[in-house]
Amino acid sequence: MSKDSILVINCGSSSLKFAVINPTTEEEKINGIAERMNSSEAVLNWKINGEKGSLPLGQAAHEAALEAIVGLLREEGLMASISAIGHRVVHGGEKFSQSCLVTDEVLQAIEDGTKLAPLHSPANLAGIRAAQKIFPGLPNVVVFDTAFHQTMPAEAYLYPIPYSLYKDHGVRRYGFHGTSYRYVGQAAADMLGLDINDSNLVVAHLGNGASACAIKNGKSIDTTMGLTPLEGLVMGTRSGDVDPNLFNFLNKTLGYTLDEATDMLNKKSGLLGLSEMDSDCRVIQEAAAQGNEHAQLTLDVFCHVLAEKVAGFAAAMGKIDALVFTGGIGENSSVIRKNVLERLSIFGFKLDEKLNDETFRGKSGVITQEGSTVAMVVATNEELMISRDTQALTA
Ligand code: ADP
Repeated sequence: MSKDSILVINCGSSSLKFAVINPTTEEEKINGIAERMNSSEAVLNWKINGEKGSLPLGQAAHEAALEAIVGLLREEGLMASISAIGHRVVHGGEKFSQSCLVTDEVLQAIEDGTKLAPLHSPANLAGIRAAQKIFPGLPNVVVFDTAFHQTMPAEAYLYPIPYSLYKDHGVRRYGFHGTSYRYVGQAAADMLGLDINDSNLVVAHLGNGASACAIKNGKSIDTTMGLTPLEGLVMGTRSGDVDPNLFNFLNKTLGYTLDEATDMLNKKSGLLGLSEMDSDCRVIQEAAAQGNEHAQLTLDVFCHVLAEKVAGFAAAMGKIDALVFTGGIGENSSVIRKNVLERLSIFGFKLDEKLNDETFRGKSGVITQEGSTVAMVVATNEELMISRDTQALTA
């Protein structure tokens, strides 16, 4: 069997997603997720050739989960096809503007940056170290969520707070979802026949986490997420932008501690907090469709914030060749897309209702009428992008 595939790993604190992908043919041979790790309900679920499988993992942490995945890959005869491992790493700070091969220095730099992503970086490091141990002969590559945004100009990444906080402590906007933006930006330009190096795109990645990015000539020039993924758009459970004085108000008037306020803004806000229903956009959409006015208001807040950010980015670029929707909501919700485009009619968007309604479940394409400023859907594929980078750096 030829070594034509990459094992892609995405480690969270309690989950480990994996896929085996041939970056040349784009074939995904298997994908799966180990969930609820470090609990007695830890379980490995996977899909291969359209069939699903499942295996309880006991109390597995990252290394044990990866060992179970290796056992599965052996059983399925896929181990011999793997030439390298690509890891998604959430925070690369200012050190990493590109993907790179894992070395001791790279591991140290990720470790040094842990203060910027205290929840994610330790899990990412645990995944890399487990892979080094379990696959001693294979190279590892790290692909950073923040790297694509390192092209932002200082005027876009600096916060108007004492400059020493940036200089001495790295407090600035970093942005996330960079791997998705790199993939979606290039795919959108290809589909529209545009030269990415001479294009003005706004991409909205709307999943449980949501952000938008202004991509000028293939480079990120601004994005909505900040020092952490809390800033910017309304998300599933994250608030996005609020008045920073809210912390003080909650503490002084309601007795919230710093941790309680942080937890509320990250885990109990956004679609979930505002709707008092669910973080899942589908549930809120269904309620709104049945006449629930509060559900409709929640969707309107989501779209109001998004439209404002898109408008700001388009104005800053001076031109918009296309607004691109991606992520679970962006790829599937014709309702959200319609709502947002109506708010942006000043930019010349004219929705094609039929195309909009027909575009979901992994379908990509334009959703506006002939003669309109282009809005489109591109199904993102971060795993494929990670496999491509890994192949390029290890070939
Ligand atoms: P993550 O950020 O965790 O990768 P996804 O990109 O999978 O998340 O997006 C999850 C979101 O996509 C959820 O809010 C879900 O409700 C939404 N979504 C999925 N399908 C639809 C749909 N048909 N209509 C509206 N929203 C959808």
